[in-house]
Amino acid sequence: MIDAADAVVVGSGAFGSSVAYHLARHGLQVALLDRSRLASQTSPRAAGLTSQVRATPALTAIARRAVVKLATFTDETGQPLRFTQSGALKIARNERDAAQLGREVERGRDAGIPIDFVSTAEARRRLPILRERGIAAVTWSPTDCNVEPAELPIGYCRAAEKIGATLLPHTPAIGFEIGPRGVEGVRTPQGTIATRVVVDAAGAWSRVVAESLGASLQVVPTRHQLFITEPIPGVVPEFPIARVIDAHVYVRHERGGLMLGGYESDPLQVDAAALAPAFEMADLPLDIEVLRRLAASVADQFPIFQDSAIRIAEYRGGLPMLTTDDRYLVGPLPGIAGAWVMSGCCVGGLSASPALGEALAEWIVDGTSEIDLSEISTARFAGREIDEAELRERCRRAYATHYRADRD
Ligand SMILES: Cc1cc2nc3c(=O)[nH]c(=O)nc-3n(C[C@H](O)[C@H](O)[C@H](O)COP(=O)(O)OP(=O)(O)OC[C@H]3O[C@@H](n4cnc5c(N)ncnc54)[C@H](O)[C@@H]3O)c2cc1C
Repeated sequence: MIDAADAVVVGSGAFGSSVAYHLARHGLQVALLDRSRLASQTSPRAAGLTSQVRATPALTAIARRAVVKLATFTDETGQPLRFTQSGALKIARNERDAAQLGREVERGRDAGIPIDFVSTAEARRRLPILRERGIAAVTWSPTDCNVEPAELPIGYCRAAEKIGATLLPHTPAIGFEIGPRGVEGVRTPQGTIATRVVVDAAGAWSRVVAESLGASLQVVPTRHQLFITEPIPGVVPEFPIARVIDAHVYVRHERGGLMLGGYESDPLQVDAAALAPAFEMADLPLDIEVLRRLAASVADQFPIFQDSAIRIAEYRGGLPMLTTDDRYLVGPLPGIAGAWVMSGCCVGGLSASPALGEALAEWIVDGTSEIDLSEISTARFAGREIDEAELRERCRRAYATHYRADRD
């Protein structure tokens, strides 16, 4: 156990491990704490998909930078990461969503990201399990990719350690020392670590951690699930990711089988403060019926999931943090000098974590970041208190409409 650090990062998931690694690269003495095993909670349960064309140029720049860093992750960190540039199909089943795709193609062109409409026959050539029934339009984005989610945060942890960070698994932050000049230390059961900088990257617990720092966060832990089938003959890693907009369903290859996940309209929302101290994400109750309903909603395009011979090999879920506007929540915690947060992943934090961790580390060290984080900064909620019922309803709506591009 160490007794002082330049920065203490609370949480070793995709967010915390990335910012810890990037802070260490700036030469800071970093301590990375986790209440549990390293990188063991929501992050390794993700689907690992990227989506680069976002609602605004700033969000697109973050997603694009992240893909560059994912593609070069092993060169940069020396750690393994399974990276598959499979490309992505996005499917509209009505005219409204086809118009959305048209706007995405324009935004992609403006940002220099390859994306265009393709015929349903061409989409099917790329993804032979796709059936053409009920499709109004499809786009093809060749540079989207997927990664093995479990490898990314543990890779950042190990890479951070190699350049001097201290990894402290099974070490919860249980309180903070705050003095007249801001953060002075982080309390753990093993002792206090003196520091002037703390980053709350506690995932589902980030609101609880922010509260013990004296700040309130407008985020709600929201269950998200997926399943993976047993291997299916003919299903190969080259299959692109497919997303069906109105059904809010995604499909991709995994381990010779198919992965399916999606966004139901009535997700389970959790109060992290009420979770048992020993709660692990593996204890989260799952509901396979949610996934069966989502699979049924795309039966015309993916009848393969209705085939009784298909067996589910694994299903899993975690607690991503939703915000009311479906955007990340990154930056200084208002009113507490030295306290920072990296939360509000909105089910897109794993893939964005390389760019967000890099940019937040620049902001902490240099006072500014090369990539514009103003649209996702904590400042946007300052002075806008809402009650718990409204917070939950707005976060539910953000989750349920996640594939509507104008808020994507
Ligand atoms: C089924 C599923 C599919 C997903 N698909 C995708 C996808 O395709 N693409 C994508 O980008 N994202 C996806 N996500 C979202 C992604 O998983 C999250 O955005 C990401 O994992 C968030 O990382 P995190 O570091 O905030 O959280 P976590 O990985 O949960 O890490 C937070 C850590 O903080 C620790 N902690 C909490 N409290 C304390 C404390 N007091 N002291 C010390 N440590 C503490 C926890 O133990 C935990 O390890 C998906 C999520 C799920 C569940």
